[in-house]
Amino acid sequence: MSGYTDHYSKIELLKNGTLSLKDNVRFIINKIKKHSHLNCYTFVSEESALRNAFVIEQKIKKGNHGTLAGMVISVKDVIAVKDMPMSCCSAILGEYIPSYNADAVERLIAEDAIIIGKTNCDEFAMGSSNEYSIHGPVLNPYDNSRVAGGSSGGSACAVAAGLCDASLGSDTGGSVRQPAAFCGIYGLRPEYGSVSRRGLTSFASSLDTIGPMATNYSDILKILNVIGKKDTYDSTSRKSVPKGEKKIRSVGFPEELKPLLHQEFFKKSAGKFLKLLEDAGIDVKFPSIPLLEFSNEVYYVIANAEAASNLSRFDKIRYGKTSGATHSSGSLDKIRTALFGAEVKRRIMSGNFILSSGYSEKYFEKAAKIRRLITNSLLEALEICDILVTPTTPGTAFLLGQKRENPVSMYDADIYTTPASLAGLAALHIPLEMGKNSGLPFGIQIICRNSDLRSLTGIIEIYNQGKDR
Ligand code: GLN
Repeated sequence: MSGYTDHYSKIELLKNGTLSLKDNVRFIINKIKKHSHLNCYTFVSEESALRNAFVIEQKIKKGNHGTLAGMVISVKDVIAVKDMPMSCCSAILGEYIPSYNADAVERLIAEDAIIIGKTNCDEFAMGSSNEYSIHGPVLNPYDNSRVAGGSSGGSACAVAAGLCDASLGSDTGGSVRQPAAFCGIYGLRPEYGSVSRRGLTSFASSLDTIGPMATNYSDILKILNVIGKKDTYDSTSRKSVPKGEKKIRSVGFPEELKPLLHQEFFKKSAGKFLKLLEDAGIDVKFPSIPLLEFSNEVYYVIANAEAASNLSRFDKIRYGKTSGATHSSGSLDKIRTALFGAEVKRRIMSGNFILSSGYSEKYFEKAAKIRRLITNSLLEALEICDILVTPTTPGTAFLLGQKRENPVSMYDADIYTTPASLAGLAALHIPLEMGKNSGLPFGIQIICRNSDLRSLTGIIEIYNQGKDR
């Protein structure tokens, strides 16, 4: 029924009448129902999706449709979609229904995308496995005994299982890229500030970004084109993502990670990728990024400090249905204790500790300094080469429950995604292949500037043409 590989081919089929948009949306909704065990949706907007499909179909026939006409997009449950429940997968928000669209969602709708529903994620986007959700874990579509990754696990799973054409996730320290890796799809964290954060529930405001997830890179770029625009209501929003393409002449792999290239998992991913680029005449360099190994520690200090501050607004009084509690009743602590999950509480506790008097110089300020040094060394590396290549994750999708009770081992899953986050750079997960024995997807990460994102199409083509040779 789908019969299309990307939005360009879908629009062609819709235009020449081979595909009916209403049937396509109906097909996707039925497929979502059949795959409910994957647990990737928290809400499906059946009625409005079909209604919009009808309207957009008419526009396509008349030729006055938007650039994303008929693209069926799901949205992570930390991003506001008007009239759709948004719990951030937390009991504290419960049945909160936003009366507004996030800026990115508004822009998708203006270009005639169809918002199909909200996707499951870790509570307030804190986690790397989607197991910290009030709605329960999301299953990996390739092996249901494994996690889909996190925190945007619902989005990644929905895209990989064909339960939407694309999804909007959010990435603070890797939450678009890591689940994309575990589910074998493309996931992009654009440069910080290039997509408005208006309507994205704040986790760590100096790191949060909204990013697209899809099965192909051309849809990622198409969505970025639409959402990557300056928003005057977000003071950190910057100018639009630049157009234009230039040839990538050199790629860099961090010198410090070189020993990885001798390990089986990384040899298959980064090693093979680099080899194919080298064969195609692209220079492979090994710039030194000395403090890379501390990026996770720095990330967790900064992210938790900012989270503790951002989450202070949740009290079950200002958002969602009130439980009859008032501030004066003295029940605030009890409400927050009862309704936040264990991982969120861990972050609030450690964040407040990190910010407390006497400790903020020791932890927060030190982390901020090392963040600056990591940023500088990444920027210097990007002076030496056009883009950087690193692993996205230390391995393939892990088993459900394997890391759930051991937060530090869960944090380790983010070791390769946090550097680009700290530096505010763009980073893309590229799916490469399926493991012959494991049957699980693996790929690599590219770190670059927004201005190089369009040029990555050529790199991806080189890999895809060469991989089976
Ligand atoms: N896994 C990381 C964390 O738990 C990243 C989360 C995110 O990017 N939202 O903080």
